Amino acid sequence: MKKTYQELEKEKNFKQILILLKKKRYTTKLELSTKLGLSIPTVTKIINEMLEIGIVFEANLNESNGGRRALVFEFIPDSLLSVGVKLELDSLQIALINLDGKIIKRKFINKNFIGSLELINILSNEIEIFLFEIGILAEKVKGIGISIPGIVSDDGLVLKVGTNFKIYNLNFEELQTKFNCKVIIENEANAAALAEFENLITKKNKNILLISIGTGIGAGIIIEGTPYMGAQKRAGEAGHITLYPHGRKCNCGNRGCWEMYCSNTAIIEEFNKEFGNIKSLKDIFNRKIMETDKGKFLINLFSENLAIGIKDLLLIFDCDKIIISGEICNYSKYIKTNIENYIFKNDIFYQNENKRLEFSSYKEDANLIGAGLLTFKDFFIL
Ligand SMILES: [Zn+2]
Repeated sequence: MKKTYQELEKEKNFKQILILLKKKRYTTKLELSTKLGLSIPTVTKIINEMLEIGIVFEANLNESNGGRRALVFEFIPDSLLSVGVKLELDSLQIALINLDGKIIKRKFINKNFIGSLELINILSNEIEIFLFEIGILAEKVKGIGISIPGIVSDDGLVLKVGTNFKIYNLNFEELQTKFNCKVIIENEANAAALAEFENLITKKNKNILLISIGTGIGAGIIIEGTPYMGAQKRAGEAGHITLYPHGRKCNCGNRGCWEMYCSNTAIIEEFNKEFGNIKSLKDIFNRKIMETDKGKFLINLFSENLAIGIKDLLLIFDCDKIIISGEICNYSKYIKTNIENYIFKNDIFYQNENKRLEFSSYKEDANLIGAGLLTFKDFFIL
């Protein structure tokens, strides 16, 4: 149902107040009213609502100058909790996340999910065990957000296309019945973009492109503060843009896709071919490998390939920030300058605008955190 003008206004004010509260941690009605240009009755109404939900706590400020005591409202980040899940081809992570996007508890599970018919059952059992282990009742959880590499349905309940998982049209609705809370699945890059956007919101960046590098590559797009999903939620399948027209065969059926050269899987395979016994990024990014000529050559080629794709996307979106997320962020010192040089140096459009490119401060947790934040969607900008 379409929201009325009043409802939209109220939502906007609620979010504005929440953003300021999150930033300042303590505030007064007067400060909210002055800084946001809202009337005191409007602020009061929203603060009352927040008190009811428990997002804020009312405290008396100490009298320091003998004047009237001002009521101070404190932001309570743990007042709402959600479960964030990061599903990958060979592992599962479950985390308890608060309103700040902070991971309170987490658990790693190694398991192969490629073509798995048991995925929903495993997920359901593991979430149940996790909640039991950390002693949280399912009722206390606002919702469960699941980050997944693939294309999901509009209602966030069906994995329509999981190319690398080799799973299609998998419905997650039974989790909703079992845990009696909202369950949302989201493309992993979109989830990561949401986490980054929440992080950057006070810095006024409204156009963000997030490149999530994992077993594949995905892009999360935020335009003018709103996530852009495309006609069928297929926007941002950037891992399948063509880098080399006659290149390596990809799971999607095409050749030379970006992720065949720049995903973790691709880079590990490439270094393994040359050096042997390379199973993780950690095995690649160390002095023993990085100081060899072949190592330097391969990492330079990787940086160039990554930069070509990023540059194409930058030319289309002209975003304020391009953020790279994923485990690769732990090793940014080996690739950052290379990538910046390929994209920005001597470029007629984006000369020396290096600051547009960032590595995520959440690193490989951006999608896990974003998945958790998704279930708080009603309270946020997105
Ligand atoms: Zn492909």
